[in-house]
Amino acid sequence: MGRNETHDPARKSWVESANAAGTDFPIQNLPYGVFSTPGSDHRVGVAIGEMILDLTALESAGTLRPAGSRTVFAAGALNPFMALPQTVWAETRAAIARLLDAGEGDRSAPLVRQAEATLHLPFFVRSYTDFYASKEHATNVGTMFRDPDNALMPNWLHMPIGYNGRASTVVASGTPIHRPNGQLKGPDDATPRFGPCEKLDFELELGAVVGTPTTMGHPISAAEAYDSIFGYVLLNDWSARDIQVWEYQPLGPFQSKSFATSISPWVVTREALEPFRTPAPEREKPLLPYLYEDGPNNFDLALEVELAPAGGGPTVISRTNHKFMYYSSALQFVHHASSGCAMETGDLLGSGTISGPGPGTLGSLLEITWNGRDPISVAGGTRRFLEDGDGVRFTGRCTGDYEIGFGACEGTILPAVDFGRA
Ligand code: MN
Repeated sequence: MGRNETHDPARKSWVESANAAGTDFPIQNLPYGVFSTPGSDHRVGVAIGEMILDLTALESAGTLRPAGSRTVFAAGALNPFMALPQTVWAETRAAIARLLDAGEGDRSAPLVRQAEATLHLPFFVRSYTDFYASKEHATNVGTMFRDPDNALMPNWLHMPIGYNGRASTVVASGTPIHRPNGQLKGPDDATPRFGPCEKLDFELELGAVVGTPTTMGHPISAAEAYDSIFGYVLLNDWSARDIQVWEYQPLGPFQSKSFATSISPWVVTREALEPFRTPAPEREKPLLPYLYEDGPNNFDLALEVELAPAGGGPTVISRTNHKFMYYSSALQFVHHASSGCAMETGDLLGSGTISGPGPGTLGSLLEITWNGRDPISVAGGTRRFLEDGDGVRFTGRCTGDYEIGFGACEGTILPAVDFGRA
């Protein structure tokens, strides 16, 4: 699938705020989300400028019927729509663009102000898998935790490394995050103790949302995997580094990651990102044939991380780009399905921490402060890791003939729950 009339840079909307310079949501974007207004059920909508187009209302009025007589926007989650054929996703996007078009559009279409709506988790997260696809991140972590001379594990250049995470604690942007408790054991401690994490971190990631499922036992190609991804969200894989370093061998991260994962509320569709596709970096070792990739499956997506202490203003602590990732989301999908693992509508694939090659492009505090060795300045103080009250905010934008954005993925740290009284 290539570009079509929904990517026309000249196209404008009758929703004036969608034509403003700097908006994340021009008529070329049209990301899907789930919202409510005081007293309403959860509804499916599309972001347009400062407004939300109410798809649940349009469907019940009969104006937009992606599944014919059956309703898909009444469920308060995107899953029923994401399970429809990919051709229906494209037809629906084209129909929404026509409805919002400055020329041929329908100015009576139901709109809600984003400022007056609450945004929710956009889809039911069926399963969550997290990968480790930035060579720079894997090298930095391997250098710190294992062996600087052999920072990359021998398998890393041959396959996308991942682990099965927890879908139960994937939450919408804005949900406060309690500092986790866990087993801690410093290098000089004789025995472990249980208590609040002292090295709480974020991981800047892109989440791929699976639309089209695969059949158990049946692998798919990279082109099929790319097309089966409905869209993408910004993802914060909150991480407890001290819990992680004690628990992660031999089976990988567990409680250090299971307590929370935040995602941005708008699912930016794969089709909206089409003009911003870019190839992954050159292969350093040839990949096995089942990992053959014939398309540019990364995105030229500029990402930013802000850290704001309680009562203080935000400081930008990282600027990076998804284009640096060694393994694309499509290739991670291929690898995941290659064993025969069934991929389901609503599966979420975290890209892995997005760290780039240059200074200022690192996607975690672990790397930015080099495991706490080099504190950074923020409003009113310094940070090695996250403190209670700190807010972390990710944003992302693609720039080409026009710009589209992802909105924000935010979370604020609450104190640990006192385990003795919990
Ligand atoms: Mn991660």
